[in-house]
Amino acid sequence: MPPDVVALAAAVVLLAVVGGFAVARERELRRIRRLVRVRAGQSIEPALEATRGRATEAERQARLQAEELAFLVALVGTGVIRLDGDLNVVSANRAAHLFLDAPTGSLPGRHVPDRPPARLDGPGDAIVTGLGDVRLDAVARTAARNGSAADDVASGGPDGRILSVRARRSPSGDVWMILDDLSELRRLQRIRTEFVDNLSHELRTPLTTVRLLTETLTRDLEEIDVPPRVVDLVQKIDVETGHLVQMATELLDLARIEQGGVPQLYIDDVELAPVIQGAVDRLRLFAERQHVRLRSEVAPDLPVVLGDGERLGQLLMNLLHNAIKFSPGGGDVTVRARPTPVPGTPGLVTLEVEDHGVGIPSDDLPRVFERFYKVDKARVRGGGGTGLGLAIVRHIAEGHGGRVSVESVEGQGSTFRVELPAAPPVPSVDRPGAGTSR
Ligand code: ADP
Repeated sequence: MPPDVVALAAAVVLLAVVGGFAVARERELRRIRRLVRVRAGQSIEPALEATRGRATEAERQARLQAEELAFLVALVGTGVIRLDGDLNVVSANRAAHLFLDAPTGSLPGRHVPDRPPARLDGPGDAIVTGLGDVRLDAVARTAARNGSAADDVASGGPDGRILSVRARRSPSGDVWMILDDLSELRRLQRIRTEFVDNLSHELRTPLTTVRLLTETLTRDLEEIDVPPRVVDLVQKIDVETGHLVQMATELLDLARIEQGGVPQLYIDDVELAPVIQGAVDRLRLFAERQHVRLRSEVAPDLPVVLGDGERLGQLLMNLLHNAIKFSPGGGDVTVRARPTPVPGTPGLVTLEVEDHGVGIPSDDLPRVFERFYKVDKARVRGGGGTGLGLAIVRHIAEGHGGRVSVESVEGQGSTFRVELPAAPPVPSVDRPGAGTSR
């Protein structure tokens, strides 16, 4: 090929390349102008400068916010620990170090192992784990896996703290742990429980004495000639004092139950008919005031139960008291007792307390035997109770080896049922001279 043709071709290629660059540069400039909102012909520099300024300011604000957040996290009395997705501790505040008895700054960098140590020989063995406690590590692992976890953990430190630990996985995959010190709360709860225990114990003795005195007075009044109004007043004092004794007993029981115990039972053979009659008599006045008719249907062949007569009376009083209280429109409240045979055993005694009052919504039914559970305070005239009555009923029934259940239809009424094991029959004693001997 002649040299001038080659030179021409090279010049054409060069021109094309240079032209291509120019077009590309112009396109890029147009894009930048559009981004920084500058018209063609205007200088791009000031707009770029302003954009850079805004970016620097946004960066400063983000840093400030992160610092403020870190300051706040350091300040709060709640322990906060942040772990990354591989369960390495990224940061932990002062409270977290304090709660876990870890030297300041020693938590970041620790790693929570993927699985618990293979063998735990006992509390004497110091097992150094990621966060210093196997249960804390388990909370972190579960939160990383399932999204959230919680537990109450007794920290191993010298203060013997009880920590409530909650952990959540964040949208970025980190795990945040929140530690609250429950020790002070538990201490206050213990003080309150002891206070209630002491107070109700102290109250019960004088109240019981007043009750005995009014009972004696009621009996004495029958023998002398006093106006019926006086008899009526003394009877009312008697009934109300009975309620006070009942309340003091419930408070005492609550304190015992909160301390982890159950009401103490004094076991003996118990005839239920007089227990039922006693409870009905004590609540008759209350029932009259509520326009409720109290009835009892006791089977004549009712077996004896092995139990604590006073506690069983309390169980019935609680159920009857509720049945009357929750029958705002009046109506009948019936207490029934009948034997229920169970092959191969001495059988059961079934107690039922039936009312036709407000009933209990089906959603609440499984929970009414829980301590402090109340369906709706607004449903009862003159306020509610303590929410403890049924919890105590359950404790007493279970303490007798029995069980309690309820059937109810809202707006129609409720039937509470207690099943107690009947006492085994007393072995027959050989009569002297009957000719039987072994
Ligand atoms: P309280 O002291 O509030 O009566 P209880 O433990 O005895 O506490 O009862 C718990 C809750 O169960 C009551 O607040 C009430 O809402 C419901 N309840 C108990 N007995 C009855 C009943 N016979 N009829 C309707 N609701 C009842």
